[in-house]
Amino acid sequence: MLDQLRSIVQEVNSARDLQSALDIIVTRVRSALNTQVCSVYLLDKDINSHVLMASQGLKAEAVGRVSLQTDEGLVGLVAKYAEPINLSDASTHPSYFYLQDTGEEEFNSFLGVPIIHHRAVLGVLVIQQRESRRFDEGEEAFLITLSAQLSGVIAHAEATGAIQGLSPSGKKTEDTIFPGVSGSSGVAIGRAVVVFPHADLSQIPQRPAKDIEHEVAFFKTCIDAVRRDMNDLYEKIAGHVAEEERQLFNVYARMLDDNALGNEVVARIRQGIWAQGALAYVAGEHVRSFESMSDDYLRERAVDIKDLCSRVLFYLQAREPIEIEYQENTILVSEELTPSMLAEAPKEKLKGLISVKGSGNSHVAILARTMGIPTVMGTVDLPYAQLEGRSLVVDGYRGEVITSPSKALRLRYREIIKEQEQLIAGLEGIKEEPCETSDGHRVQLWVNTGLMSDVMQSLDQGAEGIGLFRTEVPFLLSERFPSEQEQYEIYREQLEAFSPKIVTMRTLDIGGDKSLPYFPIEEANPFLGWRGIRVTLDHPEIFMAQIRAMLRASVGLDNLQIMLPMISNVNEVSMAQQLIKKAYRELVQEGVDVVYPPVGVMIELPAAVYQTSVLAKMVDFVSVGSNDLTQYLLAVDRNNPRVASLYSAFHPAVIAALQQVVTLAKAEGKPVSICGEMAGDPGAAVLLIAMGYDVLSMNASTLLKVKSVIRSVSMDVAKDLLEQVAELDDAQTIRSAVDMALYNAGVDRLLRSSRTH
Ligand code: PEP
Ligand code: MG
Repeated sequence: MLDQLRSIVQEVNSARDLQSALDIIVTRVRSALNTQVCSVYLLDKDINSHVLMASQGLKAEAVGRVSLQTDEGLVGLVAKYAEPINLSDASTHPSYFYLQDTGEEEFNSFLGVPIIHHRAVLGVLVIQQRESRRFDEGEEAFLITLSAQLSGVIAHAEATGAIQGLSPSGKKTEDTIFPGVSGSSGVAIGRAVVVFPHADLSQIPQRPAKDIEHEVAFFKTCIDAVRRDMNDLYEKIAGHVAEEERQLFNVYARMLDDNALGNEVVARIRQGIWAQGALAYVAGEHVRSFESMSDDYLRERAVDIKDLCSRVLFYLQAREPIEIEYQENTILVSEELTPSMLAEAPKEKLKGLISVKGSGNSHVAILARTMGIPTVMGTVDLPYAQLEGRSLVVDGYRGEVITSPSKALRLRYREIIKEQEQLIAGLEGIKEEPCETSDGHRVQLWVNTGLMSDVMQSLDQGAEGIGLFRTEVPFLLSERFPSEQEQYEIYREQLEAFSPKIVTMRTLDIGGDKSLPYFPIEEANPFLGWRGIRVTLDHPEIFMAQIRAMLRASVGLDNLQIMLPMISNVNEVSMAQQLIKKAYRELVQEGVDVVYPPVGVMIELPAAVYQTSVLAKMVDFVSVGSNDLTQYLLAVDRNNPRVASLYSAFHPAVIAALQQVVTLAKAEGKPVSICGEMAGDPGAAVLLIAMGYDVLSMNASTLLKVKSVIRSVSMDVAKDLLEQVAELDDAQTIRSAVDMALYNAGVDRLLRSSRTH
């Protein structure tokens, strides 16, 4: 049975279009189940009907012509309840609807199962038999399993038709929506330019090298050529992205160095393998190991390696460079967008980005946010390869791509684009204004830095401090643990640029979804495992080097605060404090004129919420990491798209926890900030100031939006809203109440619909 299932799915998977996929299904299922009829009915929303799309056993001329209204017949009933119906005598059922011209009157028994994809019923798979008998449990289970496995393939084939502007039954259609997730907000209208990796590494055969020395030399010239390309790209994107992001291209170039990837390839060539094969082998090994990592960020490095090695392969294959023609209003589309694909496109023509793979945490999404390009990620059903030159709408607010946009829809989106431009222009005017409510309550807006933002951009947006410097970012960009001196230089740069404003440096927060390539952590449940402070307390040498670097970097500036991540108990805090004191004493003994900095804890575990009072007593400040707090309170993996709809910082449990933390910490007289993504959501920010948060720390790109909203509400309005929200029992209702309050305060629609993690 399992073999049969597998082989049917495989065959259907390789079908060239929807019709042939459906024909394969009906033929193979009829014979596998040894029945007389197998048919597929698909929902065609444009005509509100289930259309008989393929059949073996019913009359051929009925196929494509016969249809049932959505509420008609047994097919309609299966679709409505999204459950199988198994009858020995279908014609006696009250919902039976005789389909003329199909010849189905000969068949008594009926088994229909729904075809469900992403909770939506796409259609119904039916088998029928002359003999009056119920299909047995095994047959029913087979059909259900098959239908579940085929739904994705059918959805994909339907989507391919939709790209051509056709509904499942071939009617002309417009405004087809392909859901994904938001990578960067904003909307764009334009034409698709589809980009592919340069050469296909997976196709390279392993052959012996004819002349090893010649092969090594040739490989080295190709590497040099790619290194030159990388340097060109590095120059080309200057001023378009933050310096840290730009450094990525240097990291790429370094990966090719003799002591890294390049060396491994040469070693393999020396074993007698030709250069292309050696490269493909080494690339494959690295890609597989990165792809198996649970950390989204590191998985992206697999894409980087593929991209980089494909470039080398391109030169090895001595091909002419492929010229991509970028149109005005380019929407860049790829199965897996890479930072270099983005860097190669001319900025002035680039309006939007679509990546079939990846999520809001992908490298490219992070870059897109800093560059302000509307982006949709994870459009898994989008047949991207057929999009070249097609007109598209990228809706980065809703995380949707719309193909074949109608005139009316285009007009509507043009209005939104105009509004967007006006909004951004309008926000410029408040850069120098203080962040205070309409009745004069002052709020501090700080920024989160690391890979995502550049300090200069933050200062330009009027940031009043750094609430979270994710120190793991320079660690992630390195090929080994950075030395104390290297860290000192990185930290000094941040502290100097922001001086005299405060810079909150978080100690290394790796593990969970962030492990270092040179320090892999393999665990069954990484989010519940060796993460954050747990790792650094087990490795005091890493912790000490980091603290010493931070303290030394702050000499003469004295604007440093140190923050501890993933705290679950008081021992972790006191052990960390002992190490910080030890580092401080060492430096004093060494004659360094260092000042002991304020030390704070992150509240990001439910356990820490309950221990806020005791933790606050031990430290100088507390900061809530709402990203992890939401994940742990709701037991929803923050990176898993399957449960993404359950992840909401507006869940009443999260709201209650946030309130409890601020109340308890304030009772101890300690300042409280929040540095999760929630702080950058304008609606959430209003709730947070009402709760009493002193500092909201966010990505630089959201700072002016939050400021604008805070300036348009009074503290009374914010407090009323919070009171109202405290009575509500569901995340969606809370979100709506917040939106309504912003609407009443006259806040622009585009500010209300910003995405919350
Ligand atoms: C958080 O968890 O909210 C947080 C700010 O830290 P990170 O997103 O880096 O885990
Ligand atoms: Mg966290």
